[in-house]
Amino acid sequence: MDYDVIIIGGGPAGLTAAIYTARARLKTLLLESFSVPGQAVITDHLENYPGFPDGINGFELIEKFKKQAENFGAELKVGNVERIEKDKNGWLVEAEGKTYTSLSLIIASGARPRRLGVPGERELQRKGVSYCATCDGALYKDKEIALVGGGDTAIQEALFLTRFAKKVRVVHRRDRLRATKILQERALSNERIEFIWESKAVEILGKDRVSGVKIKNVKTGKETDVSCDGVFIFVGYSPNTDFIKRVLKLDKDGYIVSDSDMNTSKKGIFACGDCCKKLLRQVVTACGDGATAAFSAQKYVEDLKGAAYK
Ligand code: NAP
Repeated sequence: MDYDVIIIGGGPAGLTAAIYTARARLKTLLLESFSVPGQAVITDHLENYPGFPDGINGFELIEKFKKQAENFGAELKVGNVERIEKDKNGWLVEAEGKTYTSLSLIIASGARPRRLGVPGERELQRKGVSYCATCDGALYKDKEIALVGGGDTAIQEALFLTRFAKKVRVVHRRDRLRATKILQERALSNERIEFIWESKAVEILGKDRVSGVKIKNVKTGKETDVSCDGVFIFVGYSPNTDFIKRVLKLDKDGYIVSDSDMNTSKKGIFACGDCCKKLLRQVVTACGDGATAAFSAQKYVEDLKGAAYK
């Protein structure tokens, strides 16, 4: 076997797992996708990760995690994993035409923004439709934005976008927000944010670029066109688990089913972070899962090698 453990995913969960397995002296490879940026890395300001009372930029935090994992000897490589298969005592991982073998795997592949699935969304992506405020917000200086969603991500990103846009109209399908109270308070008192309650975005309008959004009141059924320069969509996430769906048990939404020790349905494969079925998806919970998955993988590998401390 090339490695004791291969970790798939370079977000907080995967990198914490790498810190722990490398520190336990397991030969560790972490494979990170280049095409799907993690949710933490594109977050401008994380204010509820303990230890940073003034908050910290997501990219900066991830860079610190990487350095810490490498300091302990973890090998970090960029590569999209295409296939995973059972191989003798372990697992075979194929990424970018290369094959790696490992005694154990830790899946920490995270989640990606969910699409709304309305006409105009796909056609106008990167022409005014965006799923990342950190990436695209600065393009909307003194412009008007419509933003769909009412959860933590939507409200946090609406607040961020007021740094640039003169108006952010939050379109939410209910009469109150799902987001945590402190974010609600800030958004409701922000003069640049306006709420369009009990309404759904049913179409993104525009020919070559976004020119507006058609909204429908869920109570009255009345449709209205709201003009805007960009539409930001934050309606939750879908797990990045396609590459593993033939190997592991997933729930109906595609999240990996794991127990409290982060064991999955296959011996020797552990999972952690946002790709798992769980109650709370935060950087801090991803780190906790990552540490647990690493410890379970360590025990598993040491058992296989007959080196377990009993
Ligand atoms: P979320 O909590 O699932 O919220 C998704 C929002 O989009 C909800 O308000 C939902 O409406 C709405 N929505 C879903 N499908 C829709 C549709 N088809 N049309 C219109 N609206 C739709 O997702 P999230 O906000 O991305 O958060 C994901 C996880 O990350 C959560 O656990 C969250 O706490 C965490 N998070 C935390 C922070 C933080 O602590 N600062 C920041 C970001 C994310 P309903 O409310 O009606 O269901």
